[in-house]
Amino acid sequence: MLGFYKCSDDRTIVLLCDECDSVWYSPCDVGKIEPELTQSPKFKLSRVDTSLSGGSWAEYDEIIQVGFESDLSIKREYKP
Ligand SMILES: [Zn+2]
Repeated sequence: MLGFYKCSDDRTIVLLCDECDSVWYSPCDVGKIEPELTQSPKFKLSRVDTSLSGGSWAEYDEIIQVGFESDLSIKREYKP
């Protein structure tokens, strides 16, 4: 399942696949460019100084705040 995930900096929101820990930095990138593959144990991101570790799935309000609201249907539409 692909969903919006809020990183440990409590600010950065990325698209995360909870099966393989792949990350996209924007919903527009999904299906177009290769995802970043994060690594256990900290799941550090390369393009932003934060990590998935300690984060949580983003709330609806948080997704709206970063301007991804038009992509809320992505959970249903994306098929890896
Ligand atoms: Zn995956």
